[in-house]
Amino acid sequence: MTTSPGSADLPAPPPRLIAQPLSICINCKYPLHAPPEQTRCPECGTPILDPNLDSPEFLRFADTDYLRTLRTGIRIALVGYTIEVLRSFYTFAAGIYGLILGFQIGRNPGHTPPTPTPQPLTIVDFITFSVAVLLMLLLLAGWWKLTTPEPTPPDIASKPDHRAPARVWMLIYAVAWIGTSIFTMLYMTTITSTPTPSQMLIIMLPEFLVLGIAIPMYIYIMLYMKWIAMRLPDRSAYSLARPLVWAAPLLATVGACILVGPLATVILTVYLLFKLHKGISALVEARDPSDATYPI
Ligand SMILES: [Zn+2]
Repeated sequence: MTTSPGSADLPAPPPRLIAQPLSICINCKYPLHAPPEQTRCPECGTPILDPNLDSPEFLRFADTDYLRTLRTGIRIALVGYTIEVLRSFYTFAAGIYGLILGFQIGRNPGHTPPTPTPQPLTIVDFITFSVAVLLMLLLLAGWWKLTTPEPTPPDIASKPDHRAPARVWMLIYAVAWIGTSIFTMLYMTTITSTPTPSQMLIIMLPEFLVLGIAIPMYIYIMLYMKWIAMRLPDRSAYSLARPLVWAAPLLATVGACILVGPLATVILTVYLLFKLHKGISALVEARDPSDATYPI
């Protein structure tokens, strides 16, 4: 697999799979003049993301069924996120519509806002809630598969893969999110008038708790995806995942103030998952050409 540019008697080596020759470390910018057998940056230990190298850490050497499991996980997550994006657009549109409606009603002189009365839960509430919970479970199932432990990890100890903490925080997030949704839904039915400040606090606190849990969850999800990108190796996916380790949790929480933040996080995650899917699919199909190629 290694090319030897110095061999004069051989024809020119085929073009590399990457756009630019590797000259600097992707992590610390250390200039790399590494011999072919060296697979890590001598300065910071980051793997040299060159598909021409034979680093045992590369997923090219991983178990085929393990790669298939990762691929299935990405596909489940992508289906979940697609539904999530559609749902976000619907919620956003409904919110804008509600604002316009409220503005028009508010301009009407002589209008008195209706006194809130206890609203019993309707079948629509139940369906909306069930869809949201099923979507959360679908995403959790996808990520659970994508974070499956490798049956035979490579000999060389990789940097921490962040797989286990990613799993733990996803689970905590899912439980907290479902619990908060049930609590809020039931609590709202008990409010008979305009919520008092203390009632608002009871409604808002669990929401903030869920947002707080999203921060470590996104950090570990992105660290794990960065690790997968490193093992493909896919420099562009790695370069995308690296800033997202801090940008994704920021967008998902503080970005919620400008409404589109969480949606932007989902879209960036989907884009990254597509990149990982492409790389892992290529590895699986190289092993087993009969493996059906899906459009994604
Ligand atoms: Zn380095």
